[in-house]
Amino acid sequence: MAFILEESERLKKLPPYLFIEIDRAKRRARERGVKVIDFGVGDPDKPTPGFILSALTKAVRKPETHHYPLDRGHGPFRKTAALWIKKRFGVALNPDTEIQPLIGSKEGIAHLPLAFINPGDVVLVPDPCYPPYKSGTLFAGGQIHLMPLREENGFLPEFEKVPAGVLKRAKIIFVNYPNNPTGAIAPRRFYERLVVWATEHKILIASDLAYSEVYFGKEKPLSVLEIPGAKDVCIEFHSLSKTCNMTGWRVGFAAGAEAAVNALLRVKSNVDSGVFTAIQEAAMEALRQSFAFSKKTNALYKKRRDLLVTGLKGLGFPVTPNPSTFYVFTRLPGGEKDSTLYCKKLLEETGIVATPGVGFGKAGEGYIRFALTVPQAQIKEALVRMKKWR
Ligand SMILES: *Cc1c(COP(=O)(O)O)cnc(C)c1O
Repeated sequence: MAFILEESERLKKLPPYLFIEIDRAKRRARERGVKVIDFGVGDPDKPTPGFILSALTKAVRKPETHHYPLDRGHGPFRKTAALWIKKRFGVALNPDTEIQPLIGSKEGIAHLPLAFINPGDVVLVPDPCYPPYKSGTLFAGGQIHLMPLREENGFLPEFEKVPAGVLKRAKIIFVNYPNNPTGAIAPRRFYERLVVWATEHKILIASDLAYSEVYFGKEKPLSVLEIPGAKDVCIEFHSLSKTCNMTGWRVGFAAGAEAAVNALLRVKSNVDSGVFTAIQEAAMEALRQSFAFSKKTNALYKKRRDLLVTGLKGLGFPVTPNPSTFYVFTRLPGGEKDSTLYCKKLLEETGIVATPGVGFGKAGEGYIRFALTVPQAQIKEALVRMKKWR
């Protein structure tokens, strides 16, 4: 540009990108010829399974998929999503009014505040958290009120402690279980309390279930919608990205309160034109086979988790095995507090990338997150390097 155009206040308000130092250090290490082992990104290392690819190639050849998708999305995809919810959570939803296809769940999460938040309204956001809860709020002109997730509380937010003055202006609460970055699961009692509280205070529950199928115990993670009365006060975000190794495809869906689904759709209709219909058809096949497929991937992640957790324990990390998600989230060893500095040194001196907890929010300081999207041989190699390093 021939001149400097001042960025908008909303862009300037975004929190600083805390991973930038790690990104730079990663590039420098690679340039030095270091074989970097990357536990940083939460992106499955395995390709999308063949049955989904076949469904896509078939769908792509149908000319009717080549046009603008309908704004409510592909009817058969909405039906399949509703069936999936019924099968998995026992909750009956109307596919025509209570399901909305999304260009990945991140898109819906970031757009939701635009549908409900006026300047000065508050969105309750967990700390640490997945960053779009914050950026979506700021883009809508809303204020963020952080709710710290503490290990001693099972990484659950104490929403009952939000001050009354804040509560009056609050319109949305974000919750995310199975949780990124902590790996925690929410018990039924938590959701029961949440639904009563949200109804009383007229706050929409925005529940992010991107990891609903990534778990290692017998107990399946719950949907808030399973709680009686929840459907009136809750919108849920589902994603095929993590479950079916489809991060690059950009497909997910919202489910829940008709009024919330509708408002989100009105925002979307003015911003995007939906998900490529062929991808929605492939996603139908993904949903149909997702339970069987998740069983396999979860077994793989569990092996990796056990290997890494055992190794980290031996190195002095006070780590407990995560019951869900593909993240190992632990305090640093020896009471070390500065997670950015620790991760920077770890990378520079061993070639291992992990994410500093503070990158997800202030309450994540002192923690580190390892993504289990790395083959076992590399996990072993990383543990050897860290042992030498110590
Ligand atoms: C990965 C992730 C998502 C979103 O993924 P999409 O690819 O946009 O569906 C949502 N929430 C959390 C917590 C995630 O980690």
